[in-house]
Amino acid sequence: MSKPYKTIVGLEVHVQLDTESKLFCSCSTKFGAAPNTQTCPVCTGTPGTLPVLNRLAFELSVKTAIALNCEIPHFTKWDRKNYYYPDLPKGYQISQFDLPLSRNGYLQISDPKHEIEAKRIRIIRAHLEEDTGKSMHDELSGRADSRIDLNRCGTPLLEIVSEPDIRSPEEAKAYLTELKLLLNYIGISDCNMQEGSLRVDANINLHIDTQDGKIATPIVELKNLNSFRAVERALEYEKVRQYEEWQETGHKMGDVPKTTRGWDEQAQVTREQRSKEESSDYRYFPDPDLIPVTMTEDAIEEIRQSLGELPAALRTRLEETWKITPYDSGVLVNQGRELVDYFISVAEICKDGKQASNWTQQDVLRFLNENQISIDKFPISASSLAELISKIRVGELPSNRGREVFEKMASAKVSVREAMKALGIEKLDDSDLTALCAELVATNPRVVKDVVAGQLKAVGALIGQAKKKNPNAPPDQVREICLKLIQGKDTKRPNNPAKSDVLQFLKDHKISAKQFQIDSQLNLLCAELVATNTRIVDDIKDGQMGAIDALIEQAQKRISNVDPDSVRDICLKLIWKL
Ligand SMILES: [Zn+2]
Repeated sequence: MSKPYKTIVGLEVHVQLDTESKLFCSCSTKFGAAPNTQTCPVCTGTPGTLPVLNRLAFELSVKTAIALNCEIPHFTKWDRKNYYYPDLPKGYQISQFDLPLSRNGYLQISDPKHEIEAKRIRIIRAHLEEDTGKSMHDELSGRADSRIDLNRCGTPLLEIVSEPDIRSPEEAKAYLTELKLLLNYIGISDCNMQEGSLRVDANINLHIDTQDGKIATPIVELKNLNSFRAVERALEYEKVRQYEEWQETGHKMGDVPKTTRGWDEQAQVTREQRSKEESSDYRYFPDPDLIPVTMTEDAIEEIRQSLGELPAALRTRLEETWKITPYDSGVLVNQGRELVDYFISVAEICKDGKQASNWTQQDVLRFLNENQISIDKFPISASSLAELISKIRVGELPSNRGREVFEKMASAKVSVREAMKALGIEKLDDSDLTALCAELVATNPRVVKDVVAGQLKAVGALIGQAKKKNPNAPPDQVREICLKLIQGKDTKRPNNPAKSDVLQFLKDHKISAKQFQIDSQLNLLCAELVATNTRIVDDIKDGQMGAIDALIEQAQKRISNVDPDSVRDICLKLIWKL
């Protein structure tokens, strides 16, 4: 049975915009400075000072809103949100109330693993406001005093509010992941959650089907969610807790005021915090110190043009152009534009999107992670990696040694050619490879026996031995040749029939090899065909002369320009002698 309730979630995401200075003054926004060293009379709220809008912060906000498919009104204004809190010295926060800079957008979410269905999460609005300072409670030293750091006070903060369209913790995570990726791609924020550049509050309640119809439980706002994982876990915990609470109390929406709960990471539970003030308590009114902002259609269009390719469009392009799966395009795009550009260069040069994607995702990413570097510091150029992939494809480099070459190229900063030389890798001659396989087959009777008995896996032992004897022996080919040798189906060597077998055949039938001119290649081939096609030979002996065509056809497969009449003559001569 499915769950007796539906989980309803809406998210409020606060993003610190990547500007040098604050929203209404010229103080620096740099993270990590000593407390209260990045303040001025404007952001600390000294009476008589006047705020001046940071135009860049406004434009970055509009850029984000356009990327979120929002409508951008031509007129927007600033409002004072009045409340008193120690980290807000003015006694009000400059924000946007009824005329935000954007509204009615959406963000498409999807999951290449198909754990959630693709859907649109609608965006109610994205508006700009100033951040507050930070309270530092000195609980560690056991003292009760709190200190205030106002460095963050006045930093531009974009609040993105979703409709309650999210139906599960997994969907919440997918929404946040896609949103963060989008913000990274358009370059408006570093989205560093540890430094508080991206903060999430979640509103959650349940819709429950009861005998008296559908009811909604009271909405709970979850705070203090410091990672996407915390969001997911807190929602997971909270939906169960709310259902249990409803079973116990029967409380519906409106029966009790909206409550705020914080996520306790250590205990993995949510805990009730102070009850939240309702929006009417803030006594919003237009800020008389700031003029409203007007935007022309041209200005909006100019920002739209500056967006560049967004993650969703980029994923589609990679899948269509390079024939890679949605999962692969997702992994690549999530790593950022620079890595995608590297992948595209590799794919364009080696003309193999799948291999370019595999190498970039596995080997390149592993090297970057292990060495804690970004792609611009990666020692193998796109053209060198493309060359490596091409060499494997044409067989100049055995596939099993590709990774060794890759690592040599990265560690010694050398070309493919130099790395192969340093590792003693060269292409093994076909005849050498065949000789090696023949030797292995001859000296491993037990493996041969197992393979003949149908245990094809047993041939793995020969591959291991081949690698020891000659590291350049390509495993795939060793497997193929050994199996064919063992199963006596070696059609890969058309000009080289199994002479010893034919000799035995002639001997068995008392035909002199010398008389038959066994050294003539054509005679040898015909003898082999006659020796190995007993049913056809029997048919011919029974007078069905047409059956000889089957032998001629086989001969033509072995030696393309063979003369059919000669084959017919030699085979018939042999068959009559039997
Ligand atoms: Zn300031």
